[in-house]
Formats: sequence, structure tokens, C-alpha cells
Amino acid sequence: MQRTLTEPEHEAFRETVQTFLERRVVPRHPDWEKAGIVDREVWVEAGKQGLLGMDVPEEYGGGGVADFRYNVVLDEEMTRCGASGLGIGLHNDIIAPYLLGLGTDEQKARWLPPFCSGEMITAIAMSEPGAGSDLQGIRTHARRDGGDWVLSGGKTFITNGINSDLVLVVARTDPDADGARGLSLLAVERGMPGFERGRNLDKIGLKAQDTAELFFDEVRVPAANLVGEENRGFVHLMENLPQERLSIAVVAAAACEKLLELTLDYVKGRQAFGRPVGSFQHNRFVLAEIATQTTIARTYIDECIRQHLRGQLTVSDAAMAKWWTTDLQNKVADACLQLHGGYGYMTEYPVARAWLDGRVQAIYGGTNEIMKEIVGRGLGL
Ligand SMILES: Cc1cc2nc3c(=O)[nH]c(=O)nc-3n(C[C@H](O)[C@H](O)[C@H](O)COP(=O)(O)OP(=O)(O)OC[C@H]3O[C@@H](n4cnc5c(N)ncnc54)[C@H](O)[C@@H]3O)c2cc1C
Repeated sequence: MQRTLTEPEHEAFRETVQTFLERRVVPRHPDWEKAGIVDREVWVEAGKQGLLGMDVPEEYGGGGVADFRYNVVLDEEMTRCGASGLGIGLHNDIIAPYLLGLGTDEQKARWLPPFCSGEMITAIAMSEPGAGSDLQGIRTHARRDGGDWVLSGGKTFITNGINSDLVLVVARTDPDADGARGLSLLAVERGMPGFERGRNLDKIGLKAQDTAELFFDEVRVPAANLVGEENRGFVHLMENLPQERLSIAVVAAAACEKLLELTLDYVKGRQAFGRPVGSFQHNRFVLAEIATQTTIARTYIDECIRQHLRGQLTVSDAAMAKWWTTDLQNKVADACLQLHGGYGYMTEYPVARAWLDGRVQAIYGGTNEIMKEIVGRGLGL
């Protein structure tokens, strides 16, 4: 089906992204997978190519174009080449909106130039050992002391956790407020006394991604590092989560397309019983179903992107997109791995890595069960 989402300028940007990934990322990814982390240098290289902060105003060193389709192109191409370690999607799609939408002029002037140059890597820390789906359980807290906040607690599963220079930490700032009320976003910077990194967690996939524990022991965070309004952190999170979920869905749709492409290639070449394995009716049907579902995912996600460009993608729409496409991604990855036989189980095959890397898509950004809770609530249930 002809895709109509992008304009020639987005496709020109796609070529820039592809060249960057081919030259700077794909050859180094195996080393990063062994190290469990990407080189910081690649962030600066990405910044030079204009791949960080495409929607950040030019005065701060960004691309100056608020058009989510550039983020989409970058997410798609990173997915297609299996660059699962580079947390640029989180930086651009998830953190940038907080800094742009909630940051003061002083904060923007301080943080956005290094954000765009790649010298400042960012992260967001919501999850804790005792609070993931249910953010009401957040125990990390901060109290006022003079002009500063004094922050204590711990976070886990934080993407870019080791490399990050600025972490948006969700902390309880009003101990008397119930549940989700009384939370604020505090920007904690590398080097602040009392801010320590824990383990770089050993995961089944996303091997080159540094997903880490973070600890805060009486960290003095200046009042100037409060992002957004005091005690309105939960509202700020809710406002920004739809773009995060759409971004995950964009990756899911691109992953389905890539999996289909590489599996078609494989089953046309692999022979059994004197025929290509793709020619058996069972396998033809499996691939016909995947091709149909992937086309449905593509048209649906492109429409979600259009709605988002018009500012009309609701929390419920984003939740639907996230659970449905990531569920499909996992089913497609499993079927494609099966069609590769034993080779599909070998990590040197991209299908094996796509299967491992894709599993978390149904978990992070809010689990798919939580997505269905949101959709259900939207139905008045
Ligand atoms: C690789 C990776 C990267 C991550 N990156 C980040 C990051 O950068 N920043 C960050 O803050 N967090 C991050 N996370 C954390 C992620 O968002 C959480 O793991 C996720 O929200 C689930 O929380 P949990 O792990 O505590 O699971 P739990 O909340 O303990 O859930 C366990 C199970 O119970 C189910 N469940 C819970 N509540 C309900 C309910 N009401 N109804 C039905 N089922 C329910 C869940 O769906 C799940 O299946 C990351 C996680 C991973 C694995």
C-alpha cells in the first residue's frame, strides 16, 4: 500500500539517518552489545548530523521544526537496522517535550544546547523497585531546605541510566498528598553529590542499552532544577505519555515490516524437501497473515501520527496503539523466528535479536495490561 505520511524533506532526512546508521552505528553495535553500553562519542556524532532535538528551536542549536514525522523517520530507521542500544528515541521523543513544554527560559538556555549537540544525554526516572505500573507507590522524596530540594530514594530500570547527564526524577514533594498527587519532576545532573549509579542491569535483549539503577542520598537539587510545577508532576507525566506510547508503537510497526522483509528473504532461499520453505502452504498462509496485519498496523499508526500532528491523539488512542502494535510485534517476531528454524535461535541472525529486543515493548512505557485499563476507563468502565 502506498504510504502518504511523509514529504520529500522527511525522505531526505531518512537518507541522512540511514547514512549515519550505516557508518557510525551498525559497525560498532556488536562492541556496544558486549560492553552493555554505547560510546558517548556516537551521541556527539548524532548531534552533528542534526539527529538530536529536531524540534528544538534553532536558537538553542536544534532543528527548529516541530514535526513529529522527523522523530518517526529516525525511530523507524534505527529499528530497521537493529540499533537497539542507542537511546536517542527516548532523548528526542520523550525528554525533549518536557524540556520544551515545561522548561523555563533559563532552563532551556542551560540544557537545550548540550541536549542538541549530544554532550548532554538524558533520562527519565519514574520506576522504582516497589513502583512500576502503580506510580502512586513512588517513595523517592524531596524536601525543601532553604532554596534547594533535598532528594533521597532509588530508581530502577532507567534507560540511558549510566550515560545520562541529566535525569528527570519523579519524586514525592508533598508527603501529605495522597497517591499520585504531590509528585514533582526534579532535574538531577551528573556530579551532584549523593547521586550514584547502581548496576547496569543484565537484560535478555537491548544488550547495548544501559538500563540502570540510580540512587539519591540527600542530593541537593537547586530550586532552579524543578521542571514544571511543584506537585503537578503526575499531570505533567500524563500529558507527555501519549507521545511516548506513540513512539513505542512507531517502533513496533517498523519492527513488523523489517521482520517480514527479512523472513521473506530467508524462506525464499532456504530449501527443504526440494522446495523453498516459504512455498509450503502453511508457511505461505503464516506470511500472508503477517503481511496483512503489518499493513493494517502501518495504516493505523500513520493515522495515529497524523492525529498527533494535529494535537488530537488522546491518551486512550495512544494506549490502544501501544498495546495493539507491540502485541502484534511480539507475535510476528515469534512466527518469523519459527520460520527461520534453528537459525532463528542463533543471535547472529537479526530475527533472533529482534525477538529478544522486541519483548520489552509490551512492558515499558506502561505495560499492555495497563494500556487496556486506560482504554477500558475511556469506555466509561
Ligand atoms: C528495558 C527497560 C527499560 C525501561 N526504561 C524505563 C525508564 O527509562 N524510565 C522508567 O521510569 N521506567 C523504565 N522502565 C520500567 C517500566 O516502565 C516498568 O517495568 C513497567 O512500567 C512495569 O512496571 P513493573 O516492572 O514494576 O511491573 P508491575 O507493575 O509490578 O507489574 C507486574 C505485572 O502485573 C501487571 N499489572 C500491574 N497492575 C495491573 C493492573 N491494574 N491490572 C492488570 N495487570 C496489572 C503488569 O501488567 C505486569 O504484567 C523500563 C523497563 C525495562 C524493562
